[in-house]
Amino acid sequence: ATGINIRTYFEGRWHEGSVPLMRSADHGMWLGSAVFDGARLAHGLVPDLDLHCARINASARALMLEPTVDAGDMVQIIRDGLRAYAPGAAVYIRPMYWGQDTGYMAIVPNAASTGFAICLEEIPMPSADASTTLTRTRFRRPVMADAVVNAKAACLYPNNARMLAEARAKGFGNALCADALGNVAESGTANAFLVKDGEVFTPVPNGTFLAGITRGRHIMNMRAAGMTVHETVLSFDDFHDADEVFLTGNMAKVTPVTAFDETTYEVGPVTKRVREMYWDWAASSPL
Ligand code: PMP
Repeated sequence: ATGINIRTYFEGRWHEGSVPLMRSADHGMWLGSAVFDGARLAHGLVPDLDLHCARINASARALMLEPTVDAGDMVQIIRDGLRAYAPGAAVYIRPMYWGQDTGYMAIVPNAASTGFAICLEEIPMPSADASTTLTRTRFRRPVMADAVVNAKAACLYPNNARMLAEARAKGFGNALCADALGNVAESGTANAFLVKDGEVFTPVPNGTFLAGITRGRHIMNMRAAGMTVHETVLSFDDFHDADEVFLTGNMAKVTPVTAFDETTYEVGPVTKRVREMYWDWAASSPL
């Protein structure tokens, strides 16, 4: 439950619980200059933690903030912070940067005043056989001229919240959204894959959706195992025609999809194999 076993890294040390970070004059509060990343401890492993720490620094730069913590140092800070949790705990790891004092810069954040914090939060262990359902949403991903889509920016997420709220109100678990051209982009919280005749397909990154770290890891694992993975343009009909559909993201790694609006799917052999390959890889990875 929210509020259980939270720890916060702020101003150079770990604090127990959730602590105040922003001030009334903070740019991040007023004008939304805030970025975050998400990784998860599970089974004593934090797959690709180094990539998540590198990505948040890139996200900060995309919002004209100055990332103040080297990615390698951030990995060590997080490892230290995780020692307080029981072995076997599931912990969501959320580093964040935001614009602090505005100075005279107003709309443009004052890069010299960038805040940094990490929130660790113990979560229930995601069930290994959880699945979800999808519905098509009318909300879309913006393009780079509309929003800072090359960052994992907090200001992108109110649109995803609309997608998810709409999907849940219709009785579905998540939403499948389009890019600005109407091709499938991703779900509200994860990347989307489909399986057709034994081959795997996923939308090609086009500067609208988050090409997730977990997505990239699965593609590498699948190709290393000799599977055919196409990163290409996909329509909603392609998802209706698929044999299997699954989502990927740092939280659940692989989530089988059992329905997309009126279409239903079995949890198939490719989805199961992709999940096994992921944990085999994670167990053998140095982080
Ligand atoms: N798309 C969106 C919108 C997300 O919020 C996430 C979760 N970070 C993903 C995709 C998956 O990205 P990753 O594998 O890097 O967690």
